[in-house]
Amino acid sequence: MVNTTIKTTKSQEVFAAAQNLMPGGVSSPVRAFKSVGGQPIVFDRVKGAYIWDVDGNQYIDYVGTWGPAICGHAHPEVISALHEALEKGTSFGAPSVLENVLAEMVIAAVPSIEMVRFVNSGTEACMAVLRLMRAFTNREKVIKFEGCYHGHADMFLVKAGSGVATLGLPDSPGVPKSATISTLTAPYNDLEAVKALFEENPDQISGVILEPVVGNAGFITPDAGFLEGLRELTHEYGALLVFDEVMTGFRIAYGGAQEKFGIKPDLTTMGKVIGGGLPVGAYGGRRDIMSMIAPAGPVYQAGTLSGNPLAMTAGIKTLELLQKPGSYEYLERITKRLADGLLKAAQETGHAVCGGNISAMFGLFFTSGPVHNYEDAKKSDTAKFGRFHRGMLERGVYLAPSQFEAGFTSLAHTEEDIDQTIAIARDVLSSL
Ligand SMILES: *Cc1c(COP(=O)(O)O)cnc(C)c1O
Repeated sequence: MVNTTIKTTKSQEVFAAAQNLMPGGVSSPVRAFKSVGGQPIVFDRVKGAYIWDVDGNQYIDYVGTWGPAICGHAHPEVISALHEALEKGTSFGAPSVLENVLAEMVIAAVPSIEMVRFVNSGTEACMAVLRLMRAFTNREKVIKFEGCYHGHADMFLVKAGSGVATLGLPDSPGVPKSATISTLTAPYNDLEAVKALFEENPDQISGVILEPVVGNAGFITPDAGFLEGLRELTHEYGALLVFDEVMTGFRIAYGGAQEKFGIKPDLTTMGKVIGGGLPVGAYGGRRDIMSMIAPAGPVYQAGTLSGNPLAMTAGIKTLELLQKPGSYEYLERITKRLADGLLKAAQETGHAVCGGNISAMFGLFFTSGPVHNYEDAKKSDTAKFGRFHRGMLERGVYLAPSQFEAGFTSLAHTEEDIDQTIAIARDVLSSL
């Protein structure tokens, strides 16, 4: 078993210096460990299911760079494809065959996508999709759910989950009221609330956007009938249904949540896995709607590095690896083993918990649950989660540093990694 008293002197030095150089010492807020306390560790390298920090400590990783590393970090085939692509140059700013290849793969995989536009991040994809929703319907309002995160664009920074929730900033200063005035929110899994919003705002709602399985308020699944109900309501009120599959795309099934649950949204946003660890986002959907995007149509959206050959290459290779028979069966098997093992260990050591998994996405709340929405999730004992997180870290397991984040496994995690993680968790939980 892994050491219980790790030395993190170098991490502390690097992070102390970083705090003078960058706001909070990080390039993205959740990384700073604010919600779990203590110092973040500073990474040196990643490989397979593991991370090594600058002090040389090894950890089993369940963050997977927040989702992209579904084949395991630095997969040899992804790395060698990238080496080859690198020789041809890092950016074209012009059409390339690689874009066609990845576009064909995305269109073949995701049931509702007939055309796709590549961008550089999930945030960008969600921002663009909202513009498109509004243009297509000629309506301004949008419904989102409490605790769902759709990137950091102004219009979405209302009750936006994880990073924002963790910092206690449900809205951010600097976001003008005018930017969020058209953003309506409802509790997740509450169809009645959605119906009421449609009735109160006749012919004004362009559509509904959601995480079809929530990861940014912790791991929350849609109740039976919820996604179907949204599909019916949006049809009934002439609005669009948009699945934000930046996290769930190619993770909970090859074709994402829409394949898993058999619901066809009108538009879909993607990111994370489709970039294989390089910066990529995408949005796509019905041909008639996507044809409104410039230069085919009048809705402007552009990007200097969009469709970048390195990012396309990493995405293509990652999807190829995922296509191998048995990938998703394996991910489901090990992740269920992990989620069940963690729940059992927590229950047997006297903690109120709930949680579960779908394919390679899992979560554990320190509350007896059930958790159907963000209000329920907030009943979790976050102080206890903080102690659990620190205990796991000190014993060599790297979990997302917030109660309100999902966990991720990869094809590189072995049953041995999983069993070791459960044993460590049992140890930590019995000491809480
Ligand atoms: C991560 C995430 C985003 C934002 O993607 P970035 O690449 O971080 O900008 C949007 N939506 C969901 C559901 C996400 O999980």
